[in-house]
Amino acid sequence: MGGCQSAEPSSAEEAAYRNPAFEDVEEKQLKNVNSKSKKPVVDAKLNIHPTPPLNHKNSQLGFKDLVSLPPGIDQAEWLATNTIAFFKMVNVFYGAMSEFCTARSCPTASAPGDRHYTWLDDNGKKVKCTAPLYFDYVTSYIQDLLTDENVFPTKKGCKFPNGFIFLIQKIFLLLLHVFAHLYWAHYHQVLDMEMHTHLHTLLTHFMTFSREFKLLEPQDTSALEKLIAELPKP
Ligand SMILES: [Zn+2]
Repeated sequence: MGGCQSAEPSSAEEAAYRNPAFEDVEEKQLKNVNSKSKKPVVDAKLNIHPTPPLNHKNSQLGFKDLVSLPPGIDQAEWLATNTIAFFKMVNVFYGAMSEFCTARSCPTASAPGDRHYTWLDDNGKKVKCTAPLYFDYVTSYIQDLLTDENVFPTKKGCKFPNGFIFLIQKIFLLLLHVFAHLYWAHYHQVLDMEMHTHLHTLLTHFMTFSREFKLLEPQDTSALEKLIAELPKP
């Protein structure tokens, strides 16, 4: 079974991530969160645009209610249904941006903090790949799981396998990598296409769900830590 791996930043890389210039851009942009000012300045050099998502409309959507387990519903069933829905939504979003995510523009699946996601083959060996190839692996891997009757049973009476939650966690981690790459490498294109509100809303929903069922560890979300901190509280 394949897998993924995030190259954790070394202390030097951490330092680069905390580069004052980076923080400065981020701070300036985050301060505009609820203002009606123009689009944030895009810094091509840093290539990151952690624009603040957030507006009051989002916070009124009631994501907490939306993600809570409804009474009488089996939790595994609820996790499965929502995971399929998130996979489809993230896939559609990435698909809309895929013309910008090419082997040339994205030779690696980059993310904030000088992270570069690499795929692991069936033998656990790292496969060096471009971002589009990495996300092809991600999509195929998740698709194979979702269509595997032994993992996501659709027939009445069939049970979810032991360790089901760990597979859900892995899917969430992979989907988070898609978010991280989109925000890091393609946010200016997302802005140009005026799809930023959709992206922020999708991330808010995704993070609210993952918090509700503890699907992501703090180290998983560290790449988008500052952005996530600015998301509306459900
Ligand atoms: Zn890309």
